[in-house]
Amino acid sequence: MAPVTLAPSPITPTVDFDRDGVQHGFLRLPYSRDDSAWGSVMIPLTVVRNGCGPTALLTGANHGDEYEGAVALFDLAQTLTADRVAGRVIIVPAMNYPAFQAGTRTSPIDKGNLNRSFPGRPDGTVTQKIADYFARELLPLADLVMDIHSGGRTLDFVPFAAAHILPDKDQEARCFAAVAAFAAPFSMRMLEIDAVGMYDTTAEELGKTFVTTELGGGGTGRAETIAIAKRGVRNVLRHAGILADGQAADGQPVEASRWLDMPSGDCFRFAEDSGLIEACVDLGQPVRAGDLLARIHPIGRTGLAPAEYRAALDGILAARHFPGLVKAGDCIAVVGTVES
Ligand SMILES: [Zn+2]
Repeated sequence: MAPVTLAPSPITPTVDFDRDGVQHGFLRLPYSRDDSAWGSVMIPLTVVRNGCGPTALLTGANHGDEYEGAVALFDLAQTLTADRVAGRVIIVPAMNYPAFQAGTRTSPIDKGNLNRSFPGRPDGTVTQKIADYFARELLPLADLVMDIHSGGRTLDFVPFAAAHILPDKDQEARCFAAVAAFAAPFSMRMLEIDAVGMYDTTAEELGKTFVTTELGGGGTGRAETIAIAKRGVRNVLRHAGILADGQAADGQPVEASRWLDMPSGDCFRFAEDSGLIEACVDLGQPVRAGDLLARIHPIGRTGLAPAEYRAALDGILAARHFPGLVKAGDCIAVVGTVES
């Protein structure tokens, strides 16, 4: 079969990735529409470069309603100076910018979930074009890739950095070393429910050192989790030899991270009922197999028994459904096992 030749990306960066210094600019993505015939989506980005060295690609708001990464990266973009860098840092605080502007997980333009749209298409929807640009233009520039997620409006997590089990064990070790360097309160060996189309998978298949996070949720950022993100980003840049300031980001001692594992699909509990959720365990609390995690009360009438959802494994509650009402199919709890 002849190799498929893809069209060039329609996205134009307004910065020169090979120029030394700090550049604030945009990825300009043409988007013709009713209110702007020759308009564009303008995705903010910053490039900080100082000579030769490794490149870090840092992204937030891959999902538009996740805020720790966006806050930490807008802050980093505004404060990082080239003299503190050896190599290059590419900062995109809000990767799916239309979704970020709308405060929603997916794009209001095409309903695209960016983290299910990889490797993307240069001739596809706006979200597919963003994915394609990252897959073909930005990821190849990077040695280290960090994508900062949180739970968004519908999930809440104990704060963790994470990497995946990979076929290339050298690469896997590099990823977990970067997770350890991030030094979130928890570090996760992460199992994905549905890895098809993920940025993570695309970066990993290109051999990159890839770190992701889940740092809270509920469609907002908390002071604690934002501080974890700010500190973690700098910790990883220092670990990679790119940031050379030689001190902890804000002077706070970093407690030892607790390692969690997701050994199988038994970690997840999915609602088979719709109704009012009664949390029986809070995030971070220990659970034993068989413990009650949550009850779902039918809301159509009184007098009906709630459905019970129990842990299948020993561990801690690592994630939970955030809103008070649930629908059948919602992920209501994730139990992470604690590594000794
Ligand atoms: Zn996310």
